[in-house]
Amino acid sequence: MSRIARALTVAGSDSGGGAGIQADLKTFQELNVYGMSAITAVTVQNTLGVTNVYPLPSEATSEQIEAVGSDLGVDALKTGMLFSADIIEAVADQIRAFSWTQVVVDPVMVAKGGASLLQPEAVRALREVLLPLAYIVTPNLPEAEVLSGLSIRTLEDRREAAKRICAYGARQVVIKGGHADESGDRIVDLYYDGEAFTELVGRRIPTRHTHGTGCTFSAALTAELAKGALALDAVRTARAFIQAAIEQGLELGQGHGPTNHFA
Ligand code: PLP
Repeated sequence: MSRIARALTVAGSDSGGGAGIQADLKTFQELNVYGMSAITAVTVQNTLGVTNVYPLPSEATSEQIEAVGSDLGVDALKTGMLFSADIIEAVADQIRAFSWTQVVVDPVMVAKGGASLLQPEAVRALREVLLPLAYIVTPNLPEAEVLSGLSIRTLEDRREAAKRICAYGARQVVIKGGHADESGDRIVDLYYDGEAFTELVGRRIPTRHTHGTGCTFSAALTAELAKGALALDAVRTARAFIQAAIEQGLELGQGHGPTNHFA
């Protein structure tokens, strides 16, 4: 018998297989981590977009977490689409009950096509109940604006937003730069550990097949933490993983194809 690192994703299902729970489990597998899931909502979705969202009762998510936590054990977990304040509260209760610390919070709010994956009234719970339990939060720029209440234009604004997000209790934050309206070919992700900033510079890859990038990045980060990596090393590995997954994006469906988890 061999031991394997264990990761749990608490997120929504994407029937198209490119984002959400499905992307997370594929990513865990690619990174040699045993994946488990607690589903929060079922989305009806393909590469053209999300056409419906069916949230589960918060007890359903809570019981799934309890079932795997009490039996299989969890080395690291991530949260993705949480949809409602009730679900956020239930997830936070379980994280506290198990005293889990390796917690990645991907503050999913809106799908690229515009569908809402988090009720507007749940933002406050995300900020006040979940951020204090987060080891690393991974907002994109629009999510960082909502969490920090700032309008982000410059790199200095990003630093201020990162400070505010950590002030809610998150230990570290990575503000992903992919949504920046830059004509240039550089993408700057900003990592902040509560004391120092690290700018991680990457190349912008021209492609429309970027569905599920946020989920895949945070899942890779969680997998690395589950295996015992230090935070900044885990961030670097997750960036390399998502870079390759986008470079080799899949021509599937008629819309925004998924990133390639086998890359
Ligand atoms: N569907 C689910 C269940 C998700 O969790 C997410 C993202 O986090 C998405 C869809 C959005 O994917 P994208 O905006 O990359 O198309």
